[in-house]
Amino acid sequence: MITPDKIIYSNRRTFSLEIDEWGKLTVRAPKKATKKEIEQVIVEKQRWILTKQQVAINNQPTEYEFDGTDEFFFLGKQYPMLFSTEIQGIVFDGERFFVHSKLSSSIQKAMTKWYKEKALKIATFLTDKYTDKLGIKHSRVKITSAKTRWGSCSSKKNININWRLVLAPLQVMEYVVAHEVAHLRYMDHSAKFWLTVQELQPSYKTYKKWLKDNHNLLNF
Ligand SMILES: [Zn+2]
Repeated sequence: MITPDKIIYSNRRTFSLEIDEWGKLTVRAPKKATKKEIEQVIVEKQRWILTKQQVAINNQPTEYEFDGTDEFFFLGKQYPMLFSTEIQGIVFDGERFFVHSKLSSSIQKAMTKWYKEKALKIATFLTDKYTDKLGIKHSRVKITSAKTRWGSCSSKKNININWRLVLAPLQVMEYVVAHEVAHLRYMDHSAKFWLTVQELQPSYKTYKKWLKDNHNLLNF
C-alpha cells in the first residue's frame, strides 16, 4: 500500500494525484473524502504512481553538481573554489581552490584525488616524525577510504590512514597517526598505550573528541 506524502482537501468533486520531482505523492481530494476513498484511488492508480516515482528517482542528479559558489574543507577550514582555464587539474593557493572549467562536472572525483594526495603526504610526514621520536620502525603508509574507520595498524607494521582526515583540523590527523604509531609499540588500548599517544600528541584528548563529535563533517 502506497501512503501519500501529502493530502490536500478542497472544494472539488474529483481526486487528482501528483508526483513531484522528488517522487513525493500529493493527493488532492474533495473536502468530505474519507480515508477509504483516498486509499481506493491510490490502489487504482498504483501502477501510474510507481512508474512516475521511478522516473523521478532516475532523474535525480547523482553526480555532484558544482555551481561555482561551493566551498571545500581542507585542514579544518573552508575555501572557495574558482574556475580557471589557465591551470591543470586542481590548484590550491592557500586561500582558494582553482579548478579547470572542464572539470566542473567531475569536481568531486577531482577533489577526492587531490585530497588523497595531500593525505598521503601529511600522513607519511607525521608517521616518520612520530616513529623517529619513539625510535621505532614502520613498513609503509597507506591511504584508505573506509567511511567509518579513521586509521589502522597491521601486524606487518603498515600504517593505514583515512584520507578524509585532511578535511579536519591538522591536529585530528596528528591524533590518528599518533594512535596508530603508538600501536606499533602496544597492540592494545592500555594506559601505557595512551601515554605514548599523549607523548606524540599532547592535546590528543581534544581531537579524539573532535573526531567523535564532528565525523559527519568528514563526509565527502
Ligand atoms: Zn587503537
